[in-house]
Amino acid sequence: MKSLGIDLGGHFLKGALVEEGAIAKRQKISTPRGRDPEEIVAAISAMIQKLDAEGSAVSVGIGFPGMLDRTRETVLQAPNFPLLENYPFRTRTQETCRRKVLIENDANCAALGELACGGARGLSDFIMLTLGTGIGGGIVSGGHLFTGAHGKAGEMGHVPVGEEALCACGAPGHAEALFGADALKKAFAEAGIKGGIPDLWLRRGEPGVTKVWDLALDALARAIAAAVHILDPQAVILGGGLSRSSGLLETLRPLVLRHTAPPFRETLDLRLSLLGDDAALIGAAGLGKTIRMT
Ligand SMILES: [Zn+2]
Repeated sequence: MKSLGIDLGGHFLKGALVEEGAIAKRQKISTPRGRDPEEIVAAISAMIQKLDAEGSAVSVGIGFPGMLDRTRETVLQAPNFPLLENYPFRTRTQETCRRKVLIENDANCAALGELACGGARGLSDFIMLTLGTGIGGGIVSGGHLFTGAHGKAGEMGHVPVGEEALCACGAPGHAEALFGADALKKAFAEAGIKGGIPDLWLRRGEPGVTKVWDLALDALARAIAAAVHILDPQAVILGGGLSRSSGLLETLRPLVLRHTAPPFRETLDLRLSLLGDDAALIGAAGLGKTIRMT
């Protein structure tokens, strides 16, 4: 059975034709600059045509970087796509593509991808964190995606960690206001430190650089510890671009343990994603057959 997965990101729009959990064909373009809803829908529609002109895919799943309503029809909040808020994104895409379309939060898609054929294979209860522009989160409980009473569960990037930095969501002190590419770029710029994030990770032994990373990593560790205490997962899986920073797991683990109660320390299983950037694509492609747990 073939299906299509779309991963809408702030910088790139990616798509894949997926067959039995494997990517058969893929496409990647820059996200339309104006981020106008109609332009985005048109770009997704064109990508679908390129990936599957003959219409062999049974459904299209879209991973979206923002909070969605319970019915997965509209976008509630998306700092990178403010024009899509309250826009009937799923219906408009379905009408334009003339295919069955489903949307889901992108980190939830990554969790489903890892569950189907990645680092969470065989697990029933785990947390997925995507470390990119911000921090995305997904929860799988009892083998199903857990979305909460209103569809917004799993937003671990918005866990308050005791600082006052303003988050892109508008509230102060959230973890992704300190950890994530956007927050780090801002913190390094304010400290007068130049360089890209991968380079600054390698230079994290330098005094000024260490200070910024320490604060950011502590925020991430606190968010992970909070989620672990609430959900008692079998594993915490880290994906997204920043998760590929060499030695991140080794650096992060003692910080998480520091904020963790002893019984939880023994069961902490912090892992890296096995599918990388393909997790959200594969998870999105499988949305047509996913049963959501609320
Ligand atoms: Zn927030």
